[in-house]
Amino acid sequence: MTTQQKIAELTKIAEEIKVFKGLDIAKMATNAVPGEGNPDTDIMFIGEGPGQREDLTGRPFVGQAGKLLEKTLSETLGLTRDQVFITNIVKFRPPDNRDPLDSEIEACRDWLDQQIGIISPKVIVTLGRFSMAKFIPGVTISRVHGQSRFVDFQGQRYMVFPMYHPAAALRAGDMMQHFIADFKKLNDLLHPTPVAHSPVPSVASIASQNQLGLF
Ligand code: URA
Repeated sequence: MTTQQKIAELTKIAEEIKVFKGLDIAKMATNAVPGEGNPDTDIMFIGEGPGQREDLTGRPFVGQAGKLLEKTLSETLGLTRDQVFITNIVKFRPPDNRDPLDSEIEACRDWLDQQIGIISPKVIVTLGRFSMAKFIPGVTISRVHGQSRFVDFQGQRYMVFPMYHPAAALRAGDMMQHFIADFKKLNDLLHPTPVAHSPVPSVASIASQNQLGLF
């Protein structure tokens, strides 16, 4: 698909989302938040659902959590938000920022699946447990965050990289360290440092490593 075709398809989906009134949260929304960014990006970020500022502006991740996401994106990957694509599992704000309901996730699923198919990123970064569960069900985020894996989805293979939600990083102490460390791991995945050719180890050094229990 050309960039122009991708933009046309993504705009069509956004227009559908904006006129949708089939959920209470859609009827209550000031603005729907379809998602935005570079249709040719290698990296797609998927959050949970719009908060208050997102609802007021119609744009994803523009509140406090978004500021942290933008800052970390720039400081670790050297990217601005418009160089990636950012969207959410649900496209309308759940009241009082409650967790999205299964029925809301289901009603928004096809739009997200279409967005993924059109953008076809190399890496899908899930922010928080709801978007993680879409690709990696039955795991807890504390065990798998920062670990990439390949997932077959809609006939394509994607690298999925689960991360804590930036709002969680803002709330609790060591989550922030995890959030930043995971971004650095993501950077290493995207830009692996070329490893200098190390000399073939001698038998003596293998034997001494064996004694240290490294093998
Ligand atoms: N939290 C999310 O999950 N998405 C947003 O767009 C904003 C905050």
